[in-house]
Amino acid sequence: MAPRVDPVASDEVLPAQADVVIVGGGIIGTSAALFLAQKGISVALCEKGHIAGEQSSRNWGWCRKMARDPREIPLVIESLRLWERMNETVEAETGFRSCGIMYLGETETDLARLEAWLEHARQYQLDTRVIGGAEVAERLPGLAKKWAGALYTASDGKGEPQLAAPAIASAARRAGASIHTNCAVRGVETAGGRVSAVVTERGRIACQSAVLAGGAWSRLFCGNLGIELPQLKVLGSVMRTEKLDGGPEISASGGLFGYRKRMDGGYTVATLGVRTIDLVPDNFRLLFDYLPAARLHWKKLRFRFGSCFAEEWRTKRRWSLDEPTPFEAVRTLDPAGDPFVLERARASIAESFPAFRDVKIAESWGGMIDVMPDAIPVISAVDRVPGFFIATGFSGHGFGIGPGAGRLVADMVSGGPTIVDPTPFRLSRFTDGSNPQPHPLAS
Ligand SMILES: Cc1cc2nc3c(=O)[nH]c(=O)nc-3n(C[C@H](O)[C@H](O)[C@H](O)COP(=O)(O)OP(=O)(O)OC[C@H]3O[C@@H](n4cnc5c(N)ncnc54)[C@H](O)[C@@H]3O)c2cc1C
Repeated sequence: MAPRVDPVASDEVLPAQADVVIVGGGIIGTSAALFLAQKGISVALCEKGHIAGEQSSRNWGWCRKMARDPREIPLVIESLRLWERMNETVEAETGFRSCGIMYLGETETDLARLEAWLEHARQYQLDTRVIGGAEVAERLPGLAKKWAGALYTASDGKGEPQLAAPAIASAARRAGASIHTNCAVRGVETAGGRVSAVVTERGRIACQSAVLAGGAWSRLFCGNLGIELPQLKVLGSVMRTEKLDGGPEISASGGLFGYRKRMDGGYTVATLGVRTIDLVPDNFRLLFDYLPAARLHWKKLRFRFGSCFAEEWRTKRRWSLDEPTPFEAVRTLDPAGDPFVLERARASIAESFPAFRDVKIAESWGGMIDVMPDAIPVISAVDRVPGFFIATGFSGHGFGIGPGAGRLVADMVSGGPTIVDPTPFRLSRFTDGSNPQPHPLAS
């Protein structure tokens, strides 16, 4: 079942021209639209389905600096700054609150592994610290199981995924951006090698720059432009409980569960401990790129072989811009949650917090996570196609870093100074011999 997302008004008339066209209306595309519009740049955002229909409404809502790949830390620090004033910026409720996040450790060995990350926290003067089992029990009411301790960051936060990107999109619209839903982008036209227009199913928009923020669809979009983006998809499974009183306010992950208290008083519950991979042809095409990540997470991977393989095999990988594309065929990628994973998450949280044993599950859903081989995004210009920018591959942690990433891509497109150094996120890192690797703690 797809989570209910706040609706966003769509502009009827497609502009003939805009400075920038954004492809995709998730947290990244909407944030980029807002910051571009605030800079006085004319921007049109095209979304094939509805705003935040895919990952951006289906995630846990964690906004964390903690346990990030060190390459992402400067950007996520900026992103949390943006989140802290987001309600004010967009004049609406995004659900953002500083609530604290904990990674629980069952054994001293787990704690030592988590503690290793503190070296990065110190470098940036973050408030992350290791706490003992007694403090964990004190801070998490209702906890029955004993934990050795936790990595804890009090200043980390949470947002409401079903509210946030829609609120940002509406603010972008008020700031002058036009928003077009049910409007798939088929591709990009070039003149003299540079981006000159974006072609949508509803017509053409002449532009100087195009930003691809297409989440799990980005590899397919790039492929038609002859750009190799080594991106894969992993299924995340989530459930929402009915209201539960007296439970923890701090978000936490441990064993096979992770949770966040929602504004409606229920909890979003899931796990970082099992990842479902529906095998498709790209898993084989990109096998070697993903060996380091597979080695790191081997025990957590659950492979399924089913109809997805044949569906993707049949999906067109090349098309011309005057014919319907795969983007028009699937308005919203709406996979079901994996029952095997949901059951494990539920059993695991109930073992730690007995109150979760009897709480009713109101709904569950799946979300296709767009991953990169080194588990950090691509936020990059594409040298081969001047005017074309990519902001994708957030590898399961793009909600928290989303506003910062939107701001970074807006800075890059407008040619001004950038909020952080974008070098770690360049697309060319996969081909320039730097052999980027995933960070062991980053999920
Ligand atoms: C189960 C789950 C849990 C997660 N938990 C967290 C978390 O707690 N914290 C965190 O930080 N992150 C989390 N994430 C990751 C986070 O949700 C994503 O990284 C983030 O939402 C990515 O945003 P996006 O805008 O790049 O992609 P999306 O939200 O997927 O948006 C991409 C949009 O592009 C549109 N699109 C694609 N192609 C076209 C086209 N050709 N034309 C027009 N539109 C197009 C799609 O329809 C889609 O709406 C989680 C993800 C999942 C699935």
